[in-house]
Amino acid sequence: MKLILNCKEASYLSSIRDMHSLSIGEKLQLWIHLKVCPPCRRFANHMQVINRFLQRGSQSFSKLAPFQLSQESRGRITRLLKEIEQKKS
Ligand SMILES: [Zn+2]
Repeated sequence: MKLILNCKEASYLSSIRDMHSLSIGEKLQLWIHLKVCPPCRRFANHMQVINRFLQRGSQSFSKLAPFQLSQESRGRITRLLKEIEQKKS
């Protein structure tokens, strides 16, 4: 295992670390690179902000998942669709 990553490898690990758990070796490699490379440190910070934002967004969407239309609404939509179909033919 090489200890020093190049910027491309470091940015790759920064972009996946919130989705996949990195091995201890990868965490060490990334930590060392981020200590010596300010642009990659900035990129890693931005990735963390973006991932937190996306996680909050996906939690909000999952709260909507159990949402279902009422029987009345479903019936109204079905009737309208049938009317549209009848007008076409
Ligand atoms: Zn770098």
